Amino acid sequence: MSEVDRTNRLDKKDYIAAETKKSLIVLHHTVGGSAQSTIDYWRSDPGRIATAYVVERDGKIFEVFDPKYWAFHLGLKGTKGAVDKRSVGIEIASEGGLIQRNGVLYCFDKVSERTRFTQDYYEHPEPWRGFRFFDAYADVQAAAVAELINLLCDQFGIPRKTPADHFDADDAYRAFEGIIGHHHVRPDKSDIHPGFQWQRTIDECRLELT
Ligand SMILES: [Zn+2]
Repeated sequence: MSEVDRTNRLDKKDYIAAETKKSLIVLHHTVGGSAQSTIDYWRSDPGRIATAYVVERDGKIFEVFDPKYWAFHLGLKGTKGAVDKRSVGIEIASEGGLIQRNGVLYCFDKVSERTRFTQDYYEHPEPWRGFRFFDAYADVQAAAVAELINLLCDQFGIPRKTPADHFDADDAYRAFEGIIGHHHVRPDKSDIHPGFQWQRTIDECRLELT
């Protein structure tokens, strides 16, 4: 069991310290080099955008605010934060989608020496949401995500359910109760990507497919 680090907290101005009932967990990835760079960005941004949890590349779990509170993390226009309020967000540190030029992979949609990607990657059989290559999530990150899902389902009574289609997007998922990826409610998003270990998560968290 990974230890949850609660020493790296956001300031109260960076989230909404009002308790809300939770019925959903949404998985994201950061599109960044480390958990810390994302947490620092949230501190600098006035939009109260954040998730309660960020999972570092080495599997370390940061709880940056108490998950009974909430922040904006979905960007769903016209909902006034209704889905953000009832959900707990988990960010996985990852560069996300990668582009390929002359056999070399790059992150941030940018070809440069600085954005050259040399770590483990996941290759999808066909393009998905604009990418075929993705920064691979580490096994220790998948393990940490499963631990968090188990903790949060117990703590908040969140249903142990997930959509059977891991690649789908539909407005109907805005009403889903259980565990989804950001991509389920946002067709323009590629987090979380198809390399996520869904079957492992389903097994370790005893999730029902719906
Ligand atoms: Zn996201």
